[in-house]
Formats: sequence, C-alpha cells, structure tokens
Amino acid sequence: MRTGIAVDEARRLVLDGVAPLPPETVTIPDALGRVLAVPVAATRTLPPADCSAMDGYALRAADLAGATRAAPRELALAFEVPAGASAPRALRPGEAARIFTGAPIPAGADSVVMQEDTEAAGARVRFFATPKQSDHVRAAGEDVRAGETVLEPGARLGPAHIGLLASLGRSFVRVHRRPRVAILSGGDELVEPDEDATGGRIVSSNAYSLAAQCAEAGALSTNLGIARDTEQALERGLRAGLSADVLLSSAGVSVGDHDHVRPVLEKLGCRLVFWGVRMKPGYPITFGRFEDGAGPLVFGLPGNPVSAMVTFEQFVRPLLLRLAGGRNLARPVLRAFVAEPLRKRPGRLHFVRVTLAREGERWVARSTGNQSSGVLRSMALAQGLLVFPAEATELAAGSRADVQLLDPDLLAEPELP
Ligand code: AMP
Ligand code: MG
Repeated sequence: MRTGIAVDEARRLVLDGVAPLPPETVTIPDALGRVLAVPVAATRTLPPADCSAMDGYALRAADLAGATRAAPRELALAFEVPAGASAPRALRPGEAARIFTGAPIPAGADSVVMQEDTEAAGARVRFFATPKQSDHVRAAGEDVRAGETVLEPGARLGPAHIGLLASLGRSFVRVHRRPRVAILSGGDELVEPDEDATGGRIVSSNAYSLAAQCAEAGALSTNLGIARDTEQALERGLRAGLSADVLLSSAGVSVGDHDHVRPVLEKLGCRLVFWGVRMKPGYPITFGRFEDGAGPLVFGLPGNPVSAMVTFEQFVRPLLLRLAGGRNLARPVLRAFVAEPLRKRPGRLHFVRVTLAREGERWVARSTGNQSSGVLRSMALAQGLLVFPAEATELAAGSRADVQLLDPDLLAEPELP
C-alpha cells in the first residue's frame, strides 16, 4: 500500500485500468445524459427528398425571370402539395404548385417563392419576385445521408442527440450502464436527519451529500445506512455493498482506536492501493480494489463533511464518469486572481473553497470563509475549489491560481438579453 502520495498520483492509481461499464439498451427518453456505447449510423436520409422550407409556390426559377413588384409575372396554378403528401405529377413549364413547409418539391420544380411575394388570382398566381434556383428548398440529405455515421461512441446524449435518434427512427439506443454506488456511513455518533441530534450525536450528512454527488455524476446510489464503530458492524455494512461497482464508506479511516475501516476491508479481501494523500482537506482517504474485479472499487472517505465531498470530487467523480463511458473526467479549470493572500505550510495541496467574481477582464477568487473540514456551509457557498499547490506556502493577493469549477451557473445571467 502506498501512503503520503500526491493528488495526481492518487488519481492515476484510481483510474488505472478502469474501463467503461458494458452497454445496455434504453429507450431514448431515458438516454438523456448517458454516454453512447456504439456508433450510430443513419439507416435513412434526412430530409428524404428535396422539400420546401416555406409556405408558398414551387416552380421553375427560369419561368419568373425578371419578376418584380412593379412588373409581376403569372403562372398557372397546377395543384397543391400539403405537408405529408406528394405531388400528383411533375410540374410543367409555366406552372406553379401550391406548397407547404416540409412538403416534397414536385419533379420539374427547382425553387420555392414564399407566399408573401405572391398573390392568388383564380387559377393563376401572380409573383412579385424572381427566385434563384434552390431558393427555400431543403436539399435531400442536407441533414443526414443514409449510411453515414452520425454519432460516435463516447458522445454524451443531450436533447438534440435524442431528437436526432428519433428522427432516424430509433426509439432505443445502446449506452453505457450507469455505475452503481453503495454508501456506508460509519460512526457511533451518527443519526438520521429526523432523529434526535443532541448529546454529542450528529446527523450523518455525508450519506446525503455523497448520494447527491453520485446523482450529479450520473451514478445510481444506495444508502447502506449507518454502521457503528465495531469491526462486526462495519464488516456487515461493507459486505452489503460488495455487489456495487463502487463502495463508498465514510469516516473511520484515520488512526484512532475506533477507525476500523482499513483492517476490515483487508479482511474482506480488498487490496488497499493507497492510504493518505497529501491534500487538505481529505488526507486520510483510502482506496482499494479486489483482485480480478471480484468486488467493487472501494473508497474509505474521510468522515469530515467537506473532506468527504472534496475527496469525492477529486477521485470518485472522475472514476464514475469513466465507468459511465465519459471522455471528459475533469471539471473545467479557470485561471483566477487571488483576492486576498493565502498562506499554508508546504507539503499538502490545499483545495480552497472560493467564490468567483468577474471584475473587468479578470476572474477573482475569494475564500468562502471558514475553511475547516467540518464546515459544510463554506462548501455550499463555493463556486470552485482553488488549487493551492502542495509545495507553495503563499499565494499573494493578485497572484493567479487554477480553480476547479463546481458551479454550472457561473456564466449564467439572471436577465435575458
Ligand atoms: P472520523 O473519521 O470517524 O474520525 O470522523 C471525522 C469527523 O467526521 C467527526 O467529526 C465525525 O463526527 C464526522 N463524521 C463522520 N461521519 C460523518 C457523516 N456520515 N456525516 C457527517 N459527519 C460525519
Ligand atoms: Mg468516527
């Protein structure tokens, strides 16, 4: 087992050899946010034929040469092509066909004049403009051609992908399975949110913040509840999570007399890969695997609420994204200016909870307040985690640092333009 390693090294060890979970078939509405596991080839051409982009008249552009508002030209009204129908025959020279948006262009026609540039005159139509060939015609295949690969494996499916799949006649799609995560909270002091939290008891908030982080990362989680600080209780709790893809246990990974997580994991056959990452908060994080994939990937997360969340961010989230087939495992990182000086001892990388404000051309990062690993409020206020490098001891006001973005609304505006 490795100990006292750097954050980057720990991340590499967690992701080492981890492949996306096998695919499953889901209905397209259920595929939102999932990652495509196979290429999608079009079995049809879209649009299937040249069709009209406007309500108006299909005709030959050459028949209207020179038409203007002052010198209109007339053509004979031959027939009508509503959306969803096709033309009864080809259009002859000197004829126009009434046509509606989405309807196929009749053979013989090469352009569409929009209704606003026309006037009906009994069996004839008057035109006030000269079209160019292909005006207001959507060409067959301008969206997709049959046989073409339209979506590549690894694509995260958004609303437009789902609409595209539907338009290609696919109501099911193959996506990577969602990771299943089991969450166990260890501690004699822990109670559920609606239980009595006096007399030294505290609410097991980690079960909830971690479940929410799992959901945000696209994973399914199960709450295994609270295990008391005995080896037997912990063993029972951890065993209940052995069929998950990822097992998260929080607390009990320090060096106290009641910290049984590591020995119990080893007893269950888990090989501990590392304990102790040079970071703050979160130093005692533990990671282990079962040989030959005979069990879940296991994290012993620190118990302090912010330590649990920050270690999840750095190690569990990228792993869950990888398992779900995702290609982008890291948060976006922004270079920001430090508002007030930050100091620390060398040795551990600090993740500082910050807000981000746009000041002219700059992003300015400010601490959200008390950075204690027990203070969840400063985590709730954080729009990002500022990376204070391990060996640095001071970030002067006005110096620059990387900030991992947590807030998807950072660039959003309250008002519409
Ligand atoms: P431990 O790792 O057991 O020493 O726990 C470290 C700190 O985290 C203690 O103050 C615990 O009370 C707190 N803690 C442990 N588990 C949880 C949890 N599930 N939810 C919130 N705080 C916790
Ligand atoms: Mg404890």
